[in-house]
Amino acid sequence: MSIAKQNQDTDMMASAQESDRLDPLKDYRPRFTLPEGVIYLDGNSLGVLPAGLSDRMSDVIERQWGERLVRGWNDAGWIDLPSQVAGKIAALVGAGANCVTVGDSTSINVFKVLSAALSLRPDRRVILSDRNNFPTDLYVADGLTRLLGQGYELKLATADTMEEAVDETVVAVLLTEVDYRTGERYDMEAMTRHIHGRGALAIWDLCHSAGAFPVHLDAAGADFAIGCGYKYLNGGPGAPAFLYVAERHLNDVAPALSGWMGHDAPFAFTTDYRPADGIGRMKVGTPPILSLSALNIALDAFEGVDMALVRQKSQELCDRFIAEVEHRCPELELVTPRVREQRGSQVSFRHPEGYAIMQALIANGVIGDFRAPDILRFGMTPLYLRHTDIVAAAEILERVLRQKLWDREEYRTRAKVT
Ligand SMILES: *Cc1c(COP(=O)(O)O)cnc(C)c1O
Repeated sequence: MSIAKQNQDTDMMASAQESDRLDPLKDYRPRFTLPEGVIYLDGNSLGVLPAGLSDRMSDVIERQWGERLVRGWNDAGWIDLPSQVAGKIAALVGAGANCVTVGDSTSINVFKVLSAALSLRPDRRVILSDRNNFPTDLYVADGLTRLLGQGYELKLATADTMEEAVDETVVAVLLTEVDYRTGERYDMEAMTRHIHGRGALAIWDLCHSAGAFPVHLDAAGADFAIGCGYKYLNGGPGAPAFLYVAERHLNDVAPALSGWMGHDAPFAFTTDYRPADGIGRMKVGTPPILSLSALNIALDAFEGVDMALVRQKSQELCDRFIAEVEHRCPELELVTPRVREQRGSQVSFRHPEGYAIMQALIANGVIGDFRAPDILRFGMTPLYLRHTDIVAAAEILERVLRQKLWDREEYRTRAKVT
C-alpha cells in the first residue's frame, strides 16, 4: 500500500472516530445484542436481537403461558396485545393509534388493504404498481385480480412513468416507499397528492421505512399502508406485520378476510358477520401472542428515540459508506441515489459477481445481503451502527475485492435464502 493511501485511510478512520464521539444516538447501542466480530449491515432484512428480549420472552412463555394458561387472554392482556403493539408502531409512522393494527404477514396485509381499497371504488378496475416493487406485493395483487375476475387487472409502471400511469381507470396505486433493491425512495406526500388528483387511492408499503426514518402517514394523506415487523423494527424472524387505514375510511371499508377477530362481538359467536367499529375490523384470526410479544418488547428499543436524529445519522452513514466504497472499490457501481432525499436507509452496489462477493464478505465478518441479479445491499441502522463500523466494513470489502477472496467455488453456490 502506498504511504499516501495509508495516510488517507488513517484520516478516514480518524474522522469516523470523531463522528462516533459526537454521535447523539451513541447511547442506544446497548439496547441491542450484537454478536462479537460481526458488522451487521442487514438490519433492513432481519433486525438484530434487542437486549433483554429473551428474558422478557421467557416470562411470557413460563409465567403467562405456562402458569396462566388460557386465563392469559384476559389477565396477561393478550387480547389487547395487537392494539398495544399497534400504538407503538403508529407513533413511528405518523399515524393515529386508532388507524393501525398488527398481525398476519405483510403479504396477507397487502391482500387485506388492496381488497379493502377496491371496496371503496367499485367503479374502477385497475390496480397500479411499480414493476420493480417487491415481488410478493405484485403476486398478491395479481392473485386478487384473478380471484375477482370482473375485469380487474394489475398494471405496472416504473418510477419514471408512474405519475402519467395514474388515470381514471385506476382504483388504487400500490407502491413501496423505498425500493428494496436500489434504496430509491418515492416522495410519499407528492405522489399521494397526485394519486388523489386522479381520483385513486394510495397504498404505501413501508417495509423499508418503518423504524428506518420518520414516516408521516396521516400528514401525507395516505389511504392505506402496510409494513414489516422483522426488518427495521427488530421484531424477530417472521414477526407480525402492520396495517394502516386512514381514519376517513375506517368505517367504510369492507374486509374481504372477514374473520372472527374482526367481528364486532367475537365472543357472541353469532352466525352473521358484523364488522367491528374502526380498525378492529381489519383483524382476522387469533393473534400470534408469542411473536407479537417479541415485537412488543423489541419496539421498546425505540422509546424516547428522536426519529429525525435517526434519519440524520442514517444519511451520514450512507454518505460515508458511499465515499469509502467508491474510494476503495471503483469496480463496484453505486445504484442508490446520491441525493439524500431520494433514498431510504440502505446503500446498494452492482457487480456481476455480487453473490460470491457477498458470501466472502459475510465469511469475513461483514453481513449484508445479495439481491438478484447483481445487487450487493447494505442496510444502515443508526441505533447500533457506528461510523467506525462503516469504515471497517469498507476496508474488509476492499480486501475481499483486492485479494479476490470471493473467487472460490463455495461462494458461488447459491443458498436457499440469499
Ligand atoms: C420484506 C418485504 C415484504 C415481505 O413480506 P412477507 O409477507 O413478510 O414475506 C413485502 N413487501 C416488501 C416491499 C418487502 O420489502
